Amino acid sequence: MVIKPKIREFICTTAHPVGCAVSVDKQISHSASKGSVDGAKRVLVIGCSTGYGLASRISALENLKAATLGVMFERPATGKRTATPGWYNTAEFEKAAEKKGIYAKTLNGDAFSKEMKEKVIETIRKDLGTVDLVIYSLAAPRRTDAQGVTWTSCLKTTGEPYTEKSLDLRDNTIVEKTIEPATEEEIQGTIKVMGGEDWAEWIRDLREAGVLADQALTVAYSYIGPEITYPIYYHGTIGAAKQHLHKTAEEITKSNPGVRALISVNKGLVTQASAAIPVVPLYFSILYKVMKEKGIHEGCIQQMVRLFTEKLYTDNGPLTDENGFIRMDDLEMREDVQEEIRKSWKAVNTDNIREYCDIDGYWEDFYHMFGFGHDSVDYDADVEAQVAIPSINE
Ligand code: NAD
Repeated sequence: MVIKPKIREFICTTAHPVGCAVSVDKQISHSASKGSVDGAKRVLVIGCSTGYGLASRISALENLKAATLGVMFERPATGKRTATPGWYNTAEFEKAAEKKGIYAKTLNGDAFSKEMKEKVIETIRKDLGTVDLVIYSLAAPRRTDAQGVTWTSCLKTTGEPYTEKSLDLRDNTIVEKTIEPATEEEIQGTIKVMGGEDWAEWIRDLREAGVLADQALTVAYSYIGPEITYPIYYHGTIGAAKQHLHKTAEEITKSNPGVRALISVNKGLVTQASAAIPVVPLYFSILYKVMKEKGIHEGCIQQMVRLFTEKLYTDNGPLTDENGFIRMDDLEMREDVQEEIRKSWKAVNTDNIREYCDIDGYWEDFYHMFGFGHDSVDYDADVEAQVAIPSINE
Protein backbone atom coordinates (compact mmCIF):
# COMPACT_ATOMS: atom_id res chain seq x y z
CA MET A 1 0.00 0.00 0.00
CA VAL A 2 0.97 3.66 -0.37
CA ILE A 3 1.47 5.08 3.12
CA LYS A 4 1.09 8.78 3.88
CA PRO A 5 1.27 10.52 7.25
CA LYS A 6 -2.05 11.00 9.04
CA ILE A 7 -1.46 13.54 11.75
CA ARG A 8 -3.80 14.38 14.60
CA GLU A 9 -2.33 17.24 16.62
CA PHE A 10 0.64 15.56 18.27
CA ILE A 11 0.39 12.03 17.00
CA CYS A 12 0.65 10.37 13.63
CA THR A 13 -1.57 7.34 13.20
CA THR A 14 0.45 5.81 10.35
CA ALA A 15 4.09 4.78 10.04
CA HIS A 16 6.24 4.07 7.01
CA PRO A 17 8.26 0.81 7.15
CA VAL A 18 10.95 1.92 4.72
CA GLY A 19 11.27 5.34 6.34
CA CYS A 20 11.49 3.83 9.83
CA ALA A 21 14.26 1.55 8.57
CA VAL A 22 16.08 4.62 7.21
CA SER A 23 15.72 6.38 10.60
CA VAL A 24 17.21 3.34 12.36
CA ASP A 25 20.01 2.97 9.79
CA LYS A 26 20.99 6.62 10.26
CA GLN A 27 21.20 6.08 14.01
CA ILE A 28 23.26 2.94 13.46
CA SER A 29 25.68 4.85 11.19
CA HIS A 30 26.11 7.58 13.77
CA SER A 31 26.93 5.17 16.59
CA ALA A 32 29.16 3.03 14.38
CA SER A 33 31.20 6.16 13.59
CA LYS A 34 32.01 6.60 17.30
CA GLY A 35 33.93 3.35 17.80
CA SER A 36 33.54 0.96 20.68
CA VAL A 37 34.19 0.99 24.41
CA ASP A 38 34.56 -1.71 26.99
CA GLY A 39 31.28 -2.01 28.84
CA ALA A 40 28.26 -4.25 29.33
CA LYS A 41 28.06 -7.32 27.14
CA ARG A 42 24.45 -8.43 27.79
CA VAL A 43 21.90 -5.64 27.97
CA LEU A 44 18.20 -5.63 28.79
CA VAL A 45 16.35 -2.58 27.42
CA ILE A 46 12.85 -2.06 28.83
CA GLY A 47 11.13 0.29 26.35
CA CYS A 48 13.45 -0.55 23.47
CA SER A 49 11.57 0.42 20.32
CA THR A 50 11.48 4.22 20.01
CA GLY A 51 13.08 7.38 21.41
CA TYR A 52 15.76 7.02 24.06
CA GLY A 53 15.29 3.26 24.54
CA LEU A 54 15.82 2.50 20.85
CA ALA A 55 18.89 4.76 20.75
CA SER A 56 20.24 2.97 23.85
CA ARG A 57 19.77 -0.40 22.19
CA ILE A 58 21.52 0.80 19.05
CA SER A 59 24.43 2.19 21.05
CA ALA A 60 24.63 -1.07 23.04
CA LEU A 61 24.91 -2.97 19.75
CA GLU A 62 27.35 -0.66 18.00
CA ASN A 63 29.45 0.82 20.78
CA LEU A 64 29.45 -2.03 23.30
CA LYS A 65 28.97 -4.88 20.79
CA ALA A 66 26.46 -6.20 23.31
CA ALA A 67 23.74 -8.81 23.05
CA THR A 68 20.40 -7.10 23.65
CA LEU A 69 17.05 -8.30 24.91
CA GLY A 70 14.35 -5.68 24.32
CA VAL A 71 10.87 -5.21 25.77
CA MET A 72 8.33 -3.05 23.97
CA PHE A 73 4.61 -2.48 23.54
CA GLU A 74 4.00 -2.17 19.81
CA ARG A 75 1.42 -3.25 17.24
CA PRO A 76 2.10 -5.13 13.99
CA ALA A 77 0.26 -4.13 10.79
CA THR A 78 -3.26 -5.49 10.42
CA GLY A 79 -5.50 -5.10 7.38
CA LYS A 80 -5.30 -1.46 6.30
CA ARG A 81 -3.51 -0.34 9.47
CA THR A 82 0.22 0.11 9.41
CA ALA A 83 2.31 -1.17 12.29
CA THR A 84 3.46 1.31 14.92
CA PRO A 85 6.88 2.92 14.28
CA GLY A 86 8.45 0.95 17.13
CA TRP A 87 7.51 -2.27 15.37
CA TYR A 88 9.23 -1.25 12.13
CA ASN A 89 12.22 0.16 14.03
CA THR A 90 12.70 -3.11 15.86
CA ALA A 91 12.47 -5.17 12.67
CA GLU A 92 15.29 -3.08 11.22
CA PHE A 93 17.32 -3.20 14.42
CA GLU A 94 17.15 -6.99 14.62
CA LYS A 95 18.21 -7.27 10.97
CA ALA A 96 21.26 -5.12 11.71
CA ALA A 97 22.17 -7.22 14.76
CA GLU A 98 21.75 -10.43 12.77
CA LYS A 99 24.10 -9.13 10.08
CA LYS A 100 26.73 -8.54 12.75
CA GLY A 101 26.08 -11.94 14.27
CA ILE A 102 25.14 -10.38 17.61
CA TYR A 103 22.22 -11.70 19.66
CA ALA A 104 19.04 -9.58 19.67
CA LYS A 105 15.64 -10.75 20.83
CA THR A 106 12.52 -8.71 21.48
CA LEU A 107 9.49 -9.43 23.67
CA ASN A 108 6.33 -7.53 22.79
CA GLY A 109 3.84 -6.96 25.61
CA ASP A 110 3.14 -5.11 28.83
CA ALA A 111 6.37 -4.44 30.73
CA PHE A 112 4.38 -3.60 33.87
CA SER A 113 2.96 -7.12 34.10
CA LYS A 114 4.25 -10.03 36.15
CA GLU A 115 4.00 -12.27 33.06
CA MET A 116 6.42 -10.09 31.07
CA LYS A 117 8.90 -10.04 33.94
CA GLU A 118 8.72 -13.84 34.08
CA LYS A 119 9.16 -14.16 30.30
CA VAL A 120 12.22 -11.91 30.41
CA ILE A 121 13.76 -13.90 33.27
CA GLU A 122 13.13 -17.14 31.42
CA THR A 123 14.66 -15.74 28.21
CA ILE A 124 17.76 -14.43 29.99
CA ARG A 125 18.23 -17.78 31.75
CA LYS A 126 17.91 -19.69 28.52
CA ASP A 127 19.88 -17.42 26.18
CA LEU A 128 22.22 -15.17 28.14
CA GLY A 129 22.65 -16.46 31.67
CA THR A 130 22.77 -12.97 33.15
CA VAL A 131 22.57 -9.33 32.05
CA ASP A 132 25.05 -6.69 33.19
CA LEU A 133 23.09 -3.58 32.23
CA VAL A 134 19.35 -2.87 32.50
CA ILE A 135 18.03 0.24 30.79
CA TYR A 136 14.61 1.40 31.99
CA SER A 137 13.09 3.70 29.33
CA LEU A 138 9.34 3.34 29.54
CA ALA A 139 6.96 6.17 28.75
CA ALA A 140 3.39 5.00 29.15
CA PRO A 141 -0.05 6.48 29.73
CA ARG A 142 -1.19 3.79 32.17
CA ARG A 143 -0.06 0.87 34.27
CA THR A 144 -1.83 -2.07 35.81
CA ASP A 145 0.21 -2.93 38.90
CA ALA A 146 0.97 -6.31 40.48
CA GLN A 147 -2.24 -6.05 42.55
CA GLY A 148 -4.33 -5.58 39.41
CA VAL A 149 -5.05 -1.86 40.01
CA THR A 150 -4.89 0.31 36.88
CA TRP A 151 -3.30 3.76 37.25
CA THR A 152 -3.40 6.57 34.70
CA SER A 153 -0.76 9.24 34.30
CA CYS A 154 -1.48 12.83 33.27
CA LEU A 155 0.53 15.85 32.22
CA LYS A 156 -0.70 18.67 34.44
CA THR A 157 0.65 21.31 36.75
CA THR A 158 0.23 21.08 40.53
CA GLY A 159 -0.90 23.74 43.00
CA GLU A 160 -2.28 26.73 41.05
CA PRO A 161 -3.56 26.89 37.45
CA TYR A 162 -0.70 27.81 35.14
CA THR A 163 -1.00 30.03 32.07
CA GLU A 164 1.88 30.21 29.62
CA LYS A 165 2.73 30.62 25.95
CA SER A 166 2.39 27.41 24.00
CA LEU A 167 2.96 26.23 20.45
CA ASP A 168 -0.25 25.12 18.77
CA LEU A 169 0.96 22.21 16.67
CA ARG A 170 -2.16 22.26 14.46
CA ASP A 171 -1.16 25.52 12.77
CA ASN A 172 2.24 26.53 14.22
CA THR A 173 0.88 29.55 16.08
CA ILE A 174 1.74 30.84 19.53
CA VAL A 175 -1.24 30.68 21.84
CA GLU A 176 -1.81 31.06 25.55
CA LYS A 177 -2.63 27.89 27.32
CA THR A 178 -3.98 27.45 30.82
CA ILE A 179 -3.32 24.18 32.51
CA GLU A 180 -5.47 23.28 35.46
CA PRO A 181 -3.76 21.73 38.46
CA ALA A 182 -4.00 18.01 38.94
CA THR A 183 -5.99 16.46 41.74
CA GLU A 184 -4.15 14.47 44.41
CA GLU A 185 -5.44 11.31 42.75
CA GLU A 186 -3.99 12.37 39.38
CA ILE A 187 -0.61 13.12 40.96
CA GLN A 188 -0.58 9.71 42.63
CA GLY A 189 -1.62 8.03 39.36
CA THR A 190 1.25 9.67 37.48
CA ILE A 191 3.74 8.63 40.18
CA LYS A 192 2.45 5.05 39.96
CA VAL A 193 2.90 4.97 36.17
CA MET A 194 6.05 7.05 35.61
CA GLY A 195 7.72 6.87 39.05
CA GLY A 196 10.14 4.19 40.20
CA GLU A 197 7.89 1.46 41.62
CA ASP A 198 7.90 -0.72 38.52
CA TRP A 199 11.64 -0.18 37.96
CA ALA A 200 12.31 -1.39 41.53
CA GLU A 201 10.09 -4.45 40.95
CA TRP A 202 11.99 -5.31 37.78
CA ILE A 203 15.38 -5.16 39.50
CA ARG A 204 14.17 -7.07 42.57
CA ASP A 205 12.66 -9.83 40.39
CA LEU A 206 15.74 -10.07 38.14
CA ARG A 207 18.08 -10.21 41.13
CA GLU A 208 16.00 -12.76 43.03
CA ALA A 209 15.91 -14.92 39.90
CA GLY A 210 19.72 -14.77 39.74
CA VAL A 211 19.83 -13.28 36.25
CA LEU A 212 21.69 -10.08 37.16
CA ALA A 213 25.47 -10.23 36.87
CA ASP A 214 27.53 -9.15 39.86
CA GLN A 215 28.18 -5.37 39.67
CA ALA A 216 25.33 -4.93 37.20
CA LEU A 217 24.25 -1.39 36.42
CA THR A 218 20.72 -0.19 35.85
CA VAL A 219 19.91 3.22 34.40
CA ALA A 220 16.53 5.01 34.22
CA TYR A 221 15.98 8.17 32.22
CA SER A 222 14.78 11.44 33.63
CA TYR A 223 14.31 15.05 32.67
CA ILE A 224 14.57 18.19 34.79
CA GLY A 225 14.74 21.15 32.40
CA PRO A 226 14.92 24.87 33.14
CA GLU A 227 12.69 27.01 35.37
CA ILE A 228 10.55 28.12 32.41
CA THR A 229 9.09 24.64 32.16
CA TYR A 230 9.03 23.84 35.91
CA PRO A 231 5.28 24.48 36.37
CA ILE A 232 4.39 21.94 33.70
CA TYR A 233 7.35 19.62 34.00
CA TYR A 234 9.46 19.44 37.13
CA HIS A 235 6.81 20.86 39.46
CA GLY A 236 4.02 19.18 37.51
CA THR A 237 2.66 15.65 37.76
CA ILE A 238 5.44 14.18 35.60
CA GLY A 239 8.09 15.92 37.73
CA ALA A 240 6.55 14.38 40.86
CA ALA A 241 6.93 10.99 39.18
CA LYS A 242 10.53 11.75 38.18
CA GLN A 243 11.40 12.78 41.74
CA HIS A 244 10.01 9.44 42.88
CA LEU A 245 12.16 7.75 40.24
CA HIS A 246 15.23 9.58 41.58
CA LYS A 247 14.58 8.36 45.15
CA THR A 248 14.00 4.86 43.81
CA ALA A 249 17.52 4.78 42.35
CA GLU A 250 18.98 5.07 45.86
CA GLU A 251 16.58 2.47 47.22
CA ILE A 252 17.42 -0.01 44.45
CA THR A 253 21.14 0.34 45.12
CA LYS A 254 20.59 -0.12 48.88
CA SER A 255 18.30 -3.12 48.67
CA ASN A 256 20.02 -5.06 45.87
CA PRO A 257 23.60 -5.97 46.81
CA GLY A 258 25.90 -5.97 43.79
CA VAL A 259 23.63 -3.67 41.76
CA ARG A 260 24.11 0.06 41.16
CA ALA A 261 21.10 2.09 40.02
CA LEU A 262 21.66 5.37 38.24
CA ILE A 263 19.58 8.20 36.83
CA SER A 264 20.58 9.73 33.53
CA VAL A 265 19.06 13.19 33.11
CA ASN A 266 18.67 13.46 29.36
CA LYS A 267 18.19 16.38 26.98
CA GLY A 268 14.69 17.46 25.99
CA LEU A 269 13.84 16.00 22.59
CA VAL A 270 10.83 15.43 20.37
CA THR A 271 9.60 11.88 20.93
CA GLN A 272 6.15 10.37 20.97
CA ALA A 273 6.03 10.84 24.73
CA SER A 274 7.25 14.45 24.89
CA ALA A 275 5.17 15.83 22.00
CA ALA A 276 2.09 15.31 24.17
CA ILE A 277 3.20 17.64 26.99
CA PRO A 278 1.64 21.16 26.81
CA VAL A 279 4.08 24.15 26.62
CA VAL A 280 7.08 21.84 26.22
CA PRO A 281 7.02 21.75 22.36
CA LEU A 282 7.49 25.55 22.32
CA TYR A 283 10.46 25.23 24.67
CA PHE A 284 11.92 22.43 22.52
CA SER A 285 11.57 24.38 19.28
CA ILE A 286 13.39 27.36 20.84
CA LEU A 287 15.96 25.00 22.36
CA TYR A 288 16.59 23.36 18.98
CA LYS A 289 17.14 26.76 17.36
CA VAL A 290 19.59 27.94 20.03
CA MET A 291 21.52 24.67 20.23
CA LYS A 292 21.75 24.32 16.43
CA GLU A 293 23.05 27.87 16.12
CA LYS A 294 25.72 27.05 18.68
CA GLY A 295 26.51 23.77 16.91
CA ILE A 296 25.72 21.66 19.99
CA HIS A 297 22.32 20.17 19.14
CA GLU A 298 21.95 16.43 19.73
CA GLY A 299 19.25 13.87 18.97
CA CYS A 300 18.46 10.67 20.92
CA ILE A 301 21.29 8.73 19.31
CA GLN A 302 23.97 11.39 19.90
CA GLN A 303 22.84 11.54 23.54
CA MET A 304 22.90 7.80 24.09
CA VAL A 305 26.23 7.24 22.33
CA ARG A 306 27.74 9.95 24.50
CA LEU A 307 26.13 8.37 27.59
CA PHE A 308 27.56 4.92 26.85
CA THR A 309 30.97 5.94 25.56
CA GLU A 310 31.81 8.99 27.70
CA LYS A 311 29.76 8.89 30.90
CA LEU A 312 28.69 5.37 31.84
CA TYR A 313 31.73 3.30 30.95
CA THR A 314 34.85 5.26 31.86
CA ASP A 315 38.04 4.25 33.65
CA ASN A 316 36.64 5.90 36.78
CA GLY A 317 33.20 4.32 36.54
CA PRO A 318 30.00 6.26 35.83
CA LEU A 319 30.47 10.05 35.90
CA THR A 320 27.82 11.62 38.11
CA ASP A 321 27.09 15.02 39.64
CA GLU A 322 26.74 15.76 43.37
CA ASN A 323 23.24 14.23 43.37
CA GLY A 324 24.45 11.03 41.75
CA PHE A 325 22.87 11.92 38.39
CA ILE A 326 24.55 11.45 35.03
CA ARG A 327 23.99 14.79 33.31
CA MET A 328 23.32 14.29 29.62
CA ASP A 329 21.47 17.63 29.73
CA ASP A 330 24.81 19.36 30.37
CA LEU A 331 24.73 21.22 27.03
CA GLU A 332 21.02 22.07 27.23
CA MET A 333 21.45 23.55 30.70
CA ARG A 334 24.53 25.62 29.85
CA GLU A 335 23.94 29.18 31.08
CA ASP A 336 24.57 30.77 27.65
CA VAL A 337 21.99 28.42 26.10
CA GLN A 338 19.37 29.09 28.77
CA GLU A 339 19.98 32.86 28.65
CA GLU A 340 19.23 32.87 24.90
CA ILE A 341 16.12 30.78 25.48
CA ARG A 342 14.76 33.14 28.14
CA LYS A 343 15.17 36.08 25.71
CA SER A 344 13.51 34.20 22.85
CA TRP A 345 10.69 33.03 25.10
CA LYS A 346 9.82 36.64 26.01
CA ALA A 347 10.00 37.86 22.41
CA VAL A 348 8.30 35.07 20.47
CA ASN A 349 4.82 35.47 18.98
CA THR A 350 2.97 34.03 15.97
CA ASP A 351 4.37 36.68 13.58
CA ASN A 352 8.03 36.19 14.45
CA ILE A 353 7.86 32.48 15.27
CA ARG A 354 10.49 31.42 12.71
CA GLU A 355 12.97 33.96 14.00
CA TYR A 356 13.00 32.32 17.45
CA CYS A 357 11.81 28.76 16.94
CA ASP A 358 13.17 25.91 14.86
CA ILE A 359 9.69 24.92 13.72
CA ASP A 360 11.03 23.02 10.71
CA GLY A 361 13.48 21.13 12.91
CA TYR A 362 10.69 20.25 15.31
CA TRP A 363 8.50 18.90 12.53
CA GLU A 364 11.42 17.13 10.87
CA ASP A 365 12.05 15.15 14.04
CA PHE A 366 8.34 14.54 14.40
CA TYR A 367 7.96 13.14 10.85
CA HIS A 368 11.14 11.10 11.14
CA MET A 369 9.74 9.37 14.25
CA PHE A 370 7.07 7.83 12.02
CA GLY A 371 9.38 7.18 9.08
CA PHE A 372 8.31 10.18 7.01
CA GLY A 373 10.27 13.10 5.58
CA HIS A 374 13.36 11.24 4.37
CA ASP A 375 14.65 12.43 0.97
CA SER A 376 15.83 8.94 0.08
CA VAL A 377 12.37 7.36 0.41
CA ASP A 378 9.77 7.32 -2.38
CA TYR A 379 6.55 7.98 -0.49
CA ASP A 380 4.39 7.38 -3.59
CA ALA A 381 5.67 3.84 -3.98
CA ASP A 382 3.64 0.82 -2.99
CA VAL A 383 5.19 -0.76 0.10
CA GLU A 384 4.48 -3.89 2.13
CA ALA A 385 3.11 -2.79 5.49
CA GLN A 386 3.44 -6.24 7.06
CA VAL A 387 6.99 -6.52 8.28
CA ALA A 388 8.22 -9.42 10.39
CA ILE A 389 10.44 -9.02 13.40
CA PRO A 390 12.82 -11.98 13.22
CA SER A 391 12.58 -12.93 16.92
CA ILE A 392 8.80 -12.52 17.22
CA ASN A 393 6.48 -15.10 15.73
CA GLU A 394 3.16 -13.30 15.35
P1 NAD B 1 9.02 6.94 23.73
O1 NAD B 1 7.55 7.13 23.74
O2 NAD B 1 9.75 7.22 22.46
O3 NAD B 1 9.39 5.42 24.16
C1 NAD B 1 8.66 4.69 25.07
C2 NAD B 1 9.03 3.21 24.99
O4 NAD B 1 8.29 2.51 26.00
C3 NAD B 1 8.68 2.51 23.67
O5 NAD B 1 9.67 1.55 23.35
C4 NAD B 1 7.38 1.76 23.98
O6 NAD B 1 7.13 0.60 23.19
C5 NAD B 1 7.64 1.39 25.42
N1 NAD B 1 6.42 1.13 26.21
C6 NAD B 1 5.43 2.00 26.53
N2 NAD B 1 4.51 1.37 27.31
C7 NAD B 1 4.95 0.10 27.49
C8 NAD B 1 4.46 -1.03 28.20
N3 NAD B 1 3.34 -0.98 28.91
N4 NAD B 1 5.17 -2.19 28.12
C9 NAD B 1 6.32 -2.28 27.39
N5 NAD B 1 6.83 -1.23 26.73
C10 NAD B 1 6.16 -0.07 26.78
O7 NAD B 1 9.55 7.82 24.95
P2 NAD B 1 10.94 8.54 25.27
O8 NAD B 1 10.76 9.99 25.12
O9 NAD B 1 12.08 7.85 24.64
O10 NAD B 1 10.98 8.29 26.85
C11 NAD B 1 11.72 7.27 27.47
C12 NAD B 1 12.16 7.75 28.84
O11 NAD B 1 13.05 8.86 28.66
C13 NAD B 1 11.00 8.25 29.71
O12 NAD B 1 11.24 7.90 31.04
C14 NAD B 1 11.11 9.76 29.55
O13 NAD B 1 10.56 10.47 30.63
C15 NAD B 1 12.62 9.92 29.49
N6 NAD B 1 13.09 11.21 28.93
C16 NAD B 1 12.55 11.72 27.79
C17 NAD B 1 12.98 12.97 27.36
C18 NAD B 1 12.40 13.61 26.11
O14 NAD B 1 12.53 14.82 25.96
N7 NAD B 1 11.81 12.85 25.23
C19 NAD B 1 13.98 13.67 28.04
C20 NAD B 1 14.55 13.08 29.16
C21 NAD B 1 14.09 11.86 29.62
